[in-house]
Amino acid sequence: MKFSTAILALASASSAMAFAPVSAPQKSSALNAVLGKVTGQSSLDPAVIAKYDSLPYPEESILAEYVWVDAVGNTRSKTRTLPPAKAASVDTLPSWNFDGSSTDQAPGDDSEVILKPQRIFFDPFRPRSDGQKNILVMCDTYTPAGEPLESNSRAFAQQFFEGNEDQEAWFGLEQEFTLFNLDEVTPLGWPEGGMPSRPQGPYYCSVGPENNFGRAITDSLYKACLYAGINISGVNGEVMPGQQEYQVGPCVGIDAGDQLMMSRYILMRVCEDFQVYCTLHPKPIVQGDWNGAGMHTNFSTKSMREEGGIEVIKQAIYKLGAKHQEHIDIYGEGNELRLTGKFETASIEDFSFGIANRGASVRIGRETELEGKGYFEDRRPSSNADPYLVTGKIMSTIMGPEAPEIAPLNKEEA
Ligand code: ADP
Ligand code: MN
Ligand code: MN
Ligand code: MN
Repeated sequence: MKFSTAILALASASSAMAFAPVSAPQKSSALNAVLGKVTGQSSLDPAVIAKYDSLPYPEESILAEYVWVDAVGNTRSKTRTLPPAKAASVDTLPSWNFDGSSTDQAPGDDSEVILKPQRIFFDPFRPRSDGQKNILVMCDTYTPAGEPLESNSRAFAQQFFEGNEDQEAWFGLEQEFTLFNLDEVTPLGWPEGGMPSRPQGPYYCSVGPENNFGRAITDSLYKACLYAGINISGVNGEVMPGQQEYQVGPCVGIDAGDQLMMSRYILMRVCEDFQVYCTLHPKPIVQGDWNGAGMHTNFSTKSMREEGGIEVIKQAIYKLGAKHQEHIDIYGEGNELRLTGKFETASIEDFSFGIANRGASVRIGRETELEGKGYFEDRRPSSNADPYLVTGKIMSTIMGPEAPEIAPLNKEEA
């Protein structure tokens, strides 16, 4: 592992320095880099952390971590202390603000961005033993005049869900992610500067130290999400070694975006604890035969889940086909590197759908076809896609005009 090498390097360097004359030459920049990382590790010393963790929280104080989405789709957060009565619901939580000029979300001369609380979760990173819970607060962003920021895709999506509650739109989002050493170039479990000796095959849903890299992270994320109150429905190891997946859902309407976004925040915090780099890039390794990472979006409405729903599903898929390019435009950056028609994807150029076909843009599961009702899976969104944009766009398209029939592309695959 990276750190054991780094620690060894530091150990030998510092013991050498202990015996060196006072006028020892300046440390090399390489050594400085090692020192920086190893010094960072001290903040993870369990004994140090435990000392402060054991301090009780004052009963009248709840810590609220306000989380928002920045200009490039990453989550950011800051904490404030609130009385329990205020922390009880989004209606009593106060709005807050941050310096938008530091996140490219506002000009320096009018830098305030307003944070509006939208959804409360429990904070798995600051558990307490007095029966109360600290909270994570999913917020969206506004100008002081009350206009949603351009990067506030939640407000954009919300308009398609509002008034369509009778549809009972359910989303199940499959979030794939890829883990790396802190060098950000070596996927977890890969040899530095090289590739695994065995090609893809044994890693998907795998067990064993030679196959599954990062299970501790995925399992910690699982527990943290359950504690937070996120409707996480499962986890599995993915096809590319070092790649993992979890699913969130089914969630209703805008809540899918809120839950997925908060789950990403939790994922990044867990990876921070493990000191492992995580990327949501859809094709982190382009050389060689390695799968990319997606955010498959499973979708159904009430009528799709009822008797005869398969016909409603097909009509919805035709509508998606008619707006293929509009969807691709918001389904994530770098997605063209992933949607090649290989590695269980369809080409980015053409829309297709099929029963049990993992090489189609949209897949109808075997069970849905057999039962004549259920849901479908849009396989196009990339792992870094904005869940608010994806869910909002699907909702808007399926509420839109009828579209011409498309012939299914049914290729049997496991
Ligand atoms: P895959 O077979 O593509 O890997 P997963 O099991 O990883 O699928 O994910 C399927 C997701 O779809 C889960 O999050 C699940 O909760 C969700 N799901 C199940 N039923 C429905 C439904 N009727 N509508 C929307 N999503 C659903
Ligand atoms: Mn899956
Ligand atoms: Mn997957
Ligand atoms: Mn899938």
